[in-house]
Amino acid sequence: MLKTDVRYLKGIGPARGRQLSRLGIETIFDLLLHVPRSYNDRRIITSIRSLVPGEEVNVSGTIVSSVYLKSKNGKNRLESILRDNTGELKLTFFNFRYIAGRLKAGTRVIASGRIDYFGGISIVHPELIFLDEQDSDTRLVLPVYPLTAGITQGVMRKLIETVLDEYVSGVPEVLPPDVLNSMGFQNRSEVISKLHFPDDPFEGSRARRALALEELFVHQSLLNYVRIKATKRTGIKMIPPDGSLKGFVSSLPYNLTGAQQKVLEAIAADLRRDVPMRRLLQGDVGSGKTVVAAAACNLCCRSGYQAVMVAPTEVLASQHYRTVSGMLEPAGIRCGLLTGGTKASHRRNLLESLLDGSLDVLIGTHAIFEERVVIPGMGLCIIDEQHKFGVEQREKLLSERDPSPHFMLMSATPIPRTLAMTIYGDLDISVLDEMPPGRGSTTTRVMNRDSRSKVYEFLLDRLGNGERAYIIYPLREASVELDLKDAASSFEILKRGPLGKFGVGLLTGAMKSVEKLEVTGKFVSGEISILVSTTVVEVGLDVPEATVMVVTHAERFGLSQLHQLRGRIGRGGSDSWCFLMKGEDCGAEGARRLAILDSMNDGFRIAEEDLQLRGPGEVAGTRQHGVPAFRIASLIDDSDLMEKAADMATRSDLWESLRDEYKLRFRGLDILEI
Ligand code: ADP
Ligand code: MG
Repeated sequence: MLKTDVRYLKGIGPARGRQLSRLGIETIFDLLLHVPRSYNDRRIITSIRSLVPGEEVNVSGTIVSSVYLKSKNGKNRLESILRDNTGELKLTFFNFRYIAGRLKAGTRVIASGRIDYFGGISIVHPELIFLDEQDSDTRLVLPVYPLTAGITQGVMRKLIETVLDEYVSGVPEVLPPDVLNSMGFQNRSEVISKLHFPDDPFEGSRARRALALEELFVHQSLLNYVRIKATKRTGIKMIPPDGSLKGFVSSLPYNLTGAQQKVLEAIAADLRRDVPMRRLLQGDVGSGKTVVAAAACNLCCRSGYQAVMVAPTEVLASQHYRTVSGMLEPAGIRCGLLTGGTKASHRRNLLESLLDGSLDVLIGTHAIFEERVVIPGMGLCIIDEQHKFGVEQREKLLSERDPSPHFMLMSATPIPRTLAMTIYGDLDISVLDEMPPGRGSTTTRVMNRDSRSKVYEFLLDRLGNGERAYIIYPLREASVELDLKDAASSFEILKRGPLGKFGVGLLTGAMKSVEKLEVTGKFVSGEISILVSTTVVEVGLDVPEATVMVVTHAERFGLSQLHQLRGRIGRGGSDSWCFLMKGEDCGAEGARRLAILDSMNDGFRIAEEDLQLRGPGEVAGTRQHGVPAFRIASLIDDSDLMEKAADMATRSDLWESLRDEYKLRFRGLDILEI
């Protein structure tokens, strides 16, 4: 019944239906959970003498007079004067047929609305409580809803009252009774009723919290279900020959950091179990995730299975191929690279050697999955920086195979714990929280536009010293409207200027992948020393000689995005500099935001700031990862409820009974079909 389309409700025609759908309201359920943005507490009365234009107030008094006025443009109006013991206030109505006759002198009312200045201090179209009328709506606390054109507060309240009357008693329970009781409610229908018509605003916000907890609980129950289902799949027990890991580690030109060792031990333990590994490896840029991935591939292949490693772009796939094959081939493990750009003949060879088992590790782009490449001995699947690899994609990939391969997702997008629990709640999370030693320091400076020449001088100096630089632009193509210098046109200018002699290259998302590979190749080898680019260099590019980054219009980027960008420098032994150039339209707010970056270097804390400042969709990469559209819970204000919800979900295991609830809430997720 809750799924019933609102258009079947009495009094809702096609026009109103369209208005409601602009608010995201399609069903009765949507209407029941249309959360008030605030409450108007009409017990809080302001005296007329202290009214200030612009404020939302309630005024209580007696009508002294009402007059009809005709205006030239034919817009008639009713003006009533309301008096309390401090002064008089005008109430103005342009649409007054419904009210005519009720506002006679001597009538006592509470008038609510925003104070305007309309030929004197006035409220236009106040909401009224008629204190002397028997059947008037005298509820003192009224919900104030988000609205859309054509729907007034009054209409919305009426609609919600109607559905509450008819449907709220039938809503199924979701939260366990003891949890509800501890929040001060008997059952769910009480919570929903009080959300709309509480006795006081505090009760209203308690009801909202209970519904937020409920929502997080439903979502966590799904993740818990996915996790449990996964542990029931048959995994592959990988028993590598003794000393495999030690041998691999001692072949490296450096010692692993403590964090790398710890994570590797956890992975090695996972691989030995007959339950498929499901792990997220989080680590700030430069923390050394690739070698951990290579070590995992080593263990997999030494145990007789094949491994797959997927990167989001061809540039990164080839970089991984270079690094990983460099570490594995000396030990006799054969690696191949397969991307969209691989020549047909080479592709055929690769596919054959996968089939006959002579190829151990396949590195490539997402094309590997899409082209139905057959990997008979696939025991480990590692996905690096793969956006759009949410819980649904993970399930699709892993549920198809029996036995199910071990799985590891790698991410350099540090995200706050609440977000991680939302997006990756079905995975075990490991964090590389220690940087390899021997790195130079990175200094970040926020710069004004008029310091451009200083930055330029600095660049000339560093480049003259044999170092390399990135220059980053927020846009790919010229936008006349925004008057932003774009990467392409500034590339043309730089090439012809004094920096030109150091070799300038352009890398944008719109380029063909062969072109991208060519230009990054030149930058890696040092044939060119300046790479002009957009955020496409954000993920993964590893050029230790790059020591300077200049970001133009820095205020247009998110904090965590800027943090990821600057992770491209400071990867070698020498000190690095990141200049965040403010644009003309960078206000004080933008400058304050940027300043956070010159004092803070911890990606997790920066992401936390981003979450606070810009909301969950803006934390780098999370939009693509698909933060579910919570309608009630806020990942910022309700983050304290997340742990509770997760804990309840693991303990109660109620998923089967919550399936319908999930479908009602999170439309468009096809995870349930899997
Ligand atoms: P990310 O986590 O950003 O993917 P990478 O795996 O690309 O980081 O590693 C960054 C750089 O650090 C690489 O040049 C790599 O060779 C180097 N590196 C990784 N681990 C160590 C270590 N334990 N000691 C010294 N250098 C390391
Ligand atoms: Mg990387």
